This record gives sequence, structure tokens and C-alpha cells, in this order.
Amino acid sequence: MSVRTSAALAPKAARPRRRRPPAIGFVSLGCAKALVDSERILTRLRAEGYTIAPSYEGADLVVVNTCGFLLSAREESLEAIGEALAENGKVIVTGCLGAEPERILAEHPRVLAVTGPQQYDAVLEAIHAQLPPPHAPFLELVPAHGLKLTPRHYAYLKISEGCRNRCSFCIIPKLRGDLVSRPLPEVLAEAESLVEAGVKEILVISQDSSAYGLDLRYAPARWRGRELESRFLDLCRELGRLGVWVRLHYVYPYPHVDQVVPLMAEGKILPYLDIPFQHASPRILKAMRRPAAAERTLERIREWRRICPELAIRSTFIVGFPGESEAEFAELLTFLEEARLDRVGCFTFEPVEGAAASALPDQVPEEVAEERRARLMALQEKISAERLAAKVGRLEPVLVDGPDEEGRTLARTRFDAPEVDGRVILDATVPPGTLLDVRITGSDAHDLFASVEDDRPSP
Ligand code: SF4
Repeated sequence: MSVRTSAALAPKAARPRRRRPPAIGFVSLGCAKALVDSERILTRLRAEGYTIAPSYEGADLVVVNTCGFLLSAREESLEAIGEALAENGKVIVTGCLGAEPERILAEHPRVLAVTGPQQYDAVLEAIHAQLPPPHAPFLELVPAHGLKLTPRHYAYLKISEGCRNRCSFCIIPKLRGDLVSRPLPEVLAEAESLVEAGVKEILVISQDSSAYGLDLRYAPARWRGRELESRFLDLCRELGRLGVWVRLHYVYPYPHVDQVVPLMAEGKILPYLDIPFQHASPRILKAMRRPAAAERTLERIREWRRICPELAIRSTFIVGFPGESEAEFAELLTFLEEARLDRVGCFTFEPVEGAAASALPDQVPEEVAEERRARLMALQEKISAERLAAKVGRLEPVLVDGPDEEGRTLARTRFDAPEVDGRVILDATVPPGTLLDVRITGSDAHDLFASVEDDRPSP
């Protein structure tokens, strides 16, 4: 996902003789985790009295939050920096690509400062050096849950930073460091404040959500009079008490993930798992150094579905990993046929600079990887279409996201996350953020169509 924010907050009308507060422009690129970093920086800027400029012209300085995961993302980030320099001239760079300042400065020597991912203090310091904060901070202007770049009815909840794994194709741990879980009461307080602000759906994110609390050694924590442990299950159970949709992203198939599936069956959290399997061949998974690679995935999926028959599973895969043979790719296709996942994303392997797998022998030619990707997606499209068709006729709760460019009302079922999954196209206009039951009337390969025959709010 690439987000160019236009998180415009109208500057407070200037009183006579008072200088207007400095205005910061913000360009946010990359994944949901980077989006949360942007929200944190913006929140602190607003707390210090800065305003956020909706355009380059109105900004005294522009911050570009970059993504550095794939080559294409790096190029997009470098282009965005160039555009900000051309349009505004005063640019500070942060985010994943900021871990390589020499690369940025070689291409864009006019950049004022470069800071790395999650270096909130460093970004703020760099901004202070250019534009000192106004004397009277408008602390009261910032809501308790901070500023959000997502629509009002859903929000990402980042439960940890960094990653303790060392997947051979990935440089995230180099860019963002080792796993650091946020204290459980802090995460739950943020979730509560989001719900109080009207959020109807919380999307739990991190690099590896199921590893939550490992670095804290599952420290005991007290919350609302209850004795808890800082672990994934307790976190999910407490979030499930909030009475809103709770969706789990970036979950790895560790054995303890089995424990959260009953919470889904009980309706406490959404019956949805975003679980990046990446491959199905044991040899490739080992070469990828994937966490929980040895678990018997198909058996686990069957058991999860036995406990929670509605469970929707989203996953991502990489094809064309170095040394991937045609037989190993066929193993992946067989896995998909048997697993019958709901949503699948597929990438071709990219030899990212600094990743261990980039130096492996037997790199797969790009055209072979691309052809495998197309075959995999064709198979999955058929499976997704069949799974969606099975929902036709059902009464389903949906959360309305709002109108599309054609004026149609778009919503999502419990089985679809914003931005990455499918949509439900409604036959009536319903305001964004409404939860209601709809009758599914049709489907295609990606989306559902529904009739608003019962607009009572969903329980
Ligand atoms: S789990 Fe693997 S792919 Fe995901 S961030 Fe960590 S090292 Fe990268």
C-alpha cells in the first residue's frame, strides 16, 4: 500500500499580531506499519503546536516517510523525495529508506536531514532545528488516541516494533531492529481510546503479531482489575471485550496461534487470519528461514476450520525464490488447491540489497518467476471466486467504508480487510462507518454484491 497523505488539518485561524504556527507537509509511503509511524510523528507535531499543510505550497517544510523494503518501493521513495524537493525545497527524510542516509544524500544532496524508521525523537529534533516549535503548544488540540490517517471508522493498532526473525529475503530487522513489544496496558489503553473516538474496527499490526510479548518474557500486567500476561492470547482476549471488530494481521503459524481461534468461533474477534505462509515446499521454507516453517500447516488449517468454520484466511507467497524448482512450485500449487485460502497475494522474489537470499546461487530468471506468479494467481482466482460464490444468499454483517468514484456504496464483510481484500457493493446509499446486516446477492472473483434489506445495526 502506498499512501500519500493529505491529512489536512485546517490551521487555527491566526489571531492579529500572532505569527502563524509553522506548517509541515507530510508524504507517507509504504505499509500499514509505516502509516502508524506517520500518525505518531503527526500527533507529536500537532501536540507541539505545528499545523499540517495539505499541499507543498502551504508547507514550511516537508517530511517524507519512506519505504525501503523492495527495489520498487525504494525507487518510489527516492522519486517522492525528488518531487518534494522540486515543489517545496525544504525536505527531511525518515522511515525505512532512512536507514541508508548515504544512498539518499548521494541522489538528493539538498535533503536537510535523514532519520531512520521509528526514530520519532530524531525526526522531531530535525524539524526543531529547521523550524522551532511555537511557544505555546496546543496540547488540547490532540485527541487522546493521536491523529489518524485512516477513515474515522477503522484504525491500525501497532503492538510491537521490529522483528526477531531473520527471513533470508528480508531486510526489515536490519532496518527496524529486533522485536520490541509495547507494554500491554499501553496497547489496550490506545485501543480503548480509539473505540471511544468512534472506531468500529481495530486492525492489529506489527511485523510478527503472534510473537507479541516474547521479548517481555510474557511479563505480568494489570488491566482494569484483571491480572494478565503480556502475550498474544491475553491481548486478543482483552481486545475482544471492546465490542468492535478486531482483525489480526501478520500472524505466523506458531503453535500458540491455535489458542486464538476459539475466540474467533465465539465471535469475540473476527474470524480472520492474515498469515503470510510465503511457500509450501519445506526446502524452500527452510532456505527462506521462515518462522514455524516445520509446522504441519495443512493439518493446522483443517483444525482451525473445524473449530471456527467461518474462518477466512489471507496469505502471501513468494515465487521464484533462488533454487525454486518446477516441482517445488508445483508443491505450492497443490498446497493452494488443498488449503483453499480466501485471499492470496503473490510476489516474485526480488534480490533486495543486503538480504541473505540475494547472494544465493540459482537465481530464477525474472520471466520464469513472473510466469509462475501468473499461474498461481489464476488458480487462486478460481478458488477465491468459488469461496465467494458460496456466500451468496447469506445474511452478513458489513462495515460501510463509503462511496467509490462511481458513487456506489462500498462495504466489507468480517472476512475482508481494508485496502488488501475484497469489497461488498451495496444497492443503497449508507453512510461510512455504519455496521449493518445485508443479504449477499452476487459475487465475482474478488467482490460481493449485496442488498440492504435489513438496516438494523448489526449486534
Ligand atoms: S518475519 Fe521475516 S519477513 Fe517478516 S519482517 Fe520479520 S524477517 Fe521480515
